[in-house]
Amino acid sequence: MRHQLDFSHERELSLEELKRRIKSYIPAADFTMLEKAYNFAKNAHTGQKRSSGEDYFIHPLNVAATLVRLRMDMDSIVAGLLHDVIEDCDVKPEEIEQEFSPEMAEIVVGLTKISKIKFKTKEESQAENFRKMVVAMAKDLRVIIVKLADRMHNMRTLQYMSDEKQKKKAQETLDIYVPLSSRLGINSVKGELEDLCLRFLKPDIYYRLAEKVAMKKSERKKYIKEVIDEIQEKLLHYSLRADVTGRPKHFYSIYKKMIARGVDFDQIQDVLAFRIIVNNITECYKALGIIHSSFTPIPGRFKDYIAIPKINNYQSLHTTVIGPKSERIEIQIRTFEMDEVAETGVAAHWKYKEDDKNIRRNLEWVQELLEFNQSVESNAEFMNVIKTDLDIGGIFIFTPKGDVKELKYGSTPLDFAYAVHTEVGDHCVGAKVNGKMVSLRHTLKSGDSIDILTSKTQTPSREWLKLVKTGRAKSKIKQFLIKEERDKNSLIGKEILDKALKVFTTSLKGLRKAGELDKLIKNFKLPDEEELYVRFGTGKITPKDLVSFFPSVDQAEDKIKEIDSYHKQLSKAVIRKTRKDNAILVEGMDDVLVRLALCCNPIPGDPIQGYITTGRGITVHTTDCPRIDAGDFNRLVSVEWNPEFGFKHPVKIRVITHDKPGILSSISKAINSYGINIRSALAKSLPDTKGSFIFEIEVKDYSELLGVISAVEALEEVISVIRV
Ligand code: MN
Repeated sequence: MRHQLDFSHERELSLEELKRRIKSYIPAADFTMLEKAYNFAKNAHTGQKRSSGEDYFIHPLNVAATLVRLRMDMDSIVAGLLHDVIEDCDVKPEEIEQEFSPEMAEIVVGLTKISKIKFKTKEESQAENFRKMVVAMAKDLRVIIVKLADRMHNMRTLQYMSDEKQKKKAQETLDIYVPLSSRLGINSVKGELEDLCLRFLKPDIYYRLAEKVAMKKSERKKYIKEVIDEIQEKLLHYSLRADVTGRPKHFYSIYKKMIARGVDFDQIQDVLAFRIIVNNITECYKALGIIHSSFTPIPGRFKDYIAIPKINNYQSLHTTVIGPKSERIEIQIRTFEMDEVAETGVAAHWKYKEDDKNIRRNLEWVQELLEFNQSVESNAEFMNVIKTDLDIGGIFIFTPKGDVKELKYGSTPLDFAYAVHTEVGDHCVGAKVNGKMVSLRHTLKSGDSIDILTSKTQTPSREWLKLVKTGRAKSKIKQFLIKEERDKNSLIGKEILDKALKVFTTSLKGLRKAGELDKLIKNFKLPDEEELYVRFGTGKITPKDLVSFFPSVDQAEDKIKEIDSYHKQLSKAVIRKTRKDNAILVEGMDDVLVRLALCCNPIPGDPIQGYITTGRGITVHTTDCPRIDAGDFNRLVSVEWNPEFGFKHPVKIRVITHDKPGILSSISKAINSYGINIRSALAKSLPDTKGSFIFEIEVKDYSELLGVISAVEALEEVISVIRV
């Protein structure tokens, strides 16, 4: 029988009972440390009371009980008992280290650190806190699991706190601990925390939902039993033995659905969830078949998380059917093992086995975050990363052969390319998604099938770092850039060194011939020739440093000065232009000459296309420019307007009006009212007492142009306005 998780606040829990529960999953448990910790914590907290008036010790004891329910290891349970002694009882970390173990001390210290984090609601500071939590997690994931157990009990007893504190704690829990528990796959904790948050943050909604779900409680109970019996019977008919349970859904998940579908309390339909637990995967699909042939399935509600597990390892089949009495019911089908993972997530796999794939995956995730923590400067950016990362489920992308790759939300073709192979990523120029060409900026959606296009001449650029979401792609691009930088420096360095050697009447060639090059490398205590060049290229070693190596050469100083300035010139050439300098971004290329085509004169907002000209860089045309159609298709590149570039673009409009006095000034007024500058105006009289004006104005983008045109069109005397 599967073990039902119940985290309710326990008032009476003896050491013996705790031991008995641990024994049920660690039969050979050694209780020495547990007994010691139990007495140590009880002693340390003597005389302290909780807001509920109970002895403080009831709190660590409940935390330990939750960890036992999650089937955590002995170290975690012991840490659970001790988790508040440093903070609340002035126990020194060293004492825990000596009395227990350095490992347990480290968990408790980690917990104390987290509890000192002052959570604020502002996104910036929240990111700061998250970063600290990530650091704590990376050291030992158990710190976070114990912390979740701690928060769980505090939330369960939140009613004893002041109103203000209730709101603050609940918000913090929803912002930080719920996403964490979700990402770690500990759904039992997540579901309960969410409901508790709803209860304190939106009590009106919580109690209305509670009322609604509890309404006709006995009737509902009867209905649940009926459904269970019916499902059991159908399954048995096909000789399938299963454990079937049913319950009302978590309030928070109902609440989320209400919001997502925009429905009211009265329209809430499927509030019941049933679970069918079977022995193996084959039986899961068999059970699904039986359910779908016995009840009418609701289209679009079937999800196969067995074939494609969620990013937090959750596996299950989900479907919604019309049950007895035409009530919609949700049914989850999974194996006992999957159920354990679904309820306790990473905790279910808590073993010190190196080869445990699930644990490794979760740790990899923490590791990735840690890397971000080091590479990302601003808190806002880090928060962004964290938020997408904590969004579970990920997206699933298909290769042309039908293989599936899992990526993070917001991933682009580059992320996919790097997930396939570094080489593919490094040379990626674009992709076909569901048969359509897309740019590297394209955001992938779950279920997309993608074909990556590569080119031998393509290489990663710094811009790419902004396009990718996955840690793997980021680090691969960085690796390339570092190597590229090194190669460049090596090249420059070699040139500088060769030039400098001339001062000393030799050259690299000469030096190598004379067998002196190795001596020079040794002189600077470097591993190889390459490193010597790189040092010269980066200026860490300068030509001046050669003087000591060639003591016999006189008056080298002046010449060396010359070489130094040459060095500076070279390094300058390497410094890239900043992004803001370019009005147009060219996919995958920096520092490329870009001109706007005169034939179609595109302005920001126009859909554009780049055309590689011979010797004049890239010309930018509108996508419908006839010139492009006539050109060589292979020369097209994707380009786009740089949103960070603030510029004014000249454009001409022709206005045809009825020839009336003062018309010029009213048109000017209309244009100026948009804050737009008129560069020139040309007036011409047409037959039939019509006037024609050509205005050259400066606009920011297409929408601004449209705004002006419609403002001018609105004038009574105006017949037509067109862009010329
Ligand atoms: Mn605590």
